[in-house]
Amino acid sequence: MNYQYAKRMENLRASEVRELLKVTENREVISFGGGLPAPELFPLEEIKAVSAAVLEESGMEALQYTTTEGYAPLRRWIAQRMNRTLGTDLDEDNIQLTNGSQQGLDLTGKVFLDEGDVVLCESPTYLSAIGAFRAYGCRFVEVDTDDDGMLPAALDAAIAANPSAKFIYAIPNFQNPTGRSWSLERRQYLVEAAQRNGILVVEDNPYGELRFEGENLPSLISLAAPGGVLHLGTFSKTFCPGYRIGWIAGDKQVVEKYGLCKQGTDLQCNTLAQREIAKYLELYDIDAHIEKIRRVYHRRRDLAVETMAREFPGGTSFTRPQGGLFLWVRLPEGIAARQLLTACMERNVAFVPGGAFFPGGGNENTMRINFSNMPESRIVEGLTIIGEELRKLLA
Ligand code: PMP
Repeated sequence: MNYQYAKRMENLRASEVRELLKVTENREVISFGGGLPAPELFPLEEIKAVSAAVLEESGMEALQYTTTEGYAPLRRWIAQRMNRTLGTDLDEDNIQLTNGSQQGLDLTGKVFLDEGDVVLCESPTYLSAIGAFRAYGCRFVEVDTDDDGMLPAALDAAIAANPSAKFIYAIPNFQNPTGRSWSLERRQYLVEAAQRNGILVVEDNPYGELRFEGENLPSLISLAAPGGVLHLGTFSKTFCPGYRIGWIAGDKQVVEKYGLCKQGTDLQCNTLAQREIAKYLELYDIDAHIEKIRRVYHRRRDLAVETMAREFPGGTSFTRPQGGLFLWVRLPEGIAARQLLTACMERNVAFVPGGAFFPGGGNENTMRINFSNMPESRIVEGLTIIGEELRKLLA
């Protein structure tokens, strides 16, 4: 059959991370690849109890269709938590549940992007946001970053050159892929520049609650005038990604548009998942659970950084994130991370080459390391192997 694909399919390629994850499902592989939480931290026993309670108390509702916007008690909990931890002033009508924040990204494309529209983003940025937005035919303008976020001069230049950009996509906390967090000044600068130019900001915040060092900084949504920022959240990293429950928070008028688009996509999120999460939040202390995650990831970050400092050759630099799941490595100029990956895969060690996180390509001497998924001994073993292969490549 000669399939007549939509034009948008020309823009889509297989995600490098997805392809990699196929290999890393093999338990032999020491994977620093995907953004996988530590599975041993999933509260399995509690979830068994929660699942039984939901089916017992409200089985018929839990297995039925529900509203597009999602289970009201869960949306209320999210709004109240955001108000408490992120300084917002929201209620449940500001929240639309999504199938993970990944669907929030896709719906953002569906709601806002026409063919040829411009999206401003950090350079580098989240790989699957590039994929999600690109499907709607947008063009990316990368804004240079340093350890504190987008560079003000680069942001100003990008806005001046693209005054009708549809939105600015940013991950201010423990960014994927770099693990870096924006300083308060850069957060303020972005919000003010966007506001001055009438450009929406899309704040993606899957990792904000996973800070294990330093001070929490204000969210972009709390710094902006009402309506200026759409905020994407998720239970994937603080609870369990398998539930696929995230949300989009913002102005009611915009949130309704997301609902309209979501109806065409999947009508609603999984009813049982919504009710089980709500029940968990009612019966258990998610803060204690998150604290446990933070402690484990903190140790893993320390171990990763120590091992890399010891085992990686001179000329290599890396970030030391204060939270989240990732750190970012810059290899000596001329060393291709893809080539290093091929050598490491021979020894059953995986990571993601960094080039894919730049919409415009280049930066082949960078790589992303996930430190949350592997137990401590495998972190040391795997990073030592990467160090050895790196030395061989340099020799
Ligand atoms: N945004 C960012 C920045 C991410 O890193 C991820 C997951 N790796 C997502 C969105 C999607 O997460 P989920 O759909 O599981 O909520």
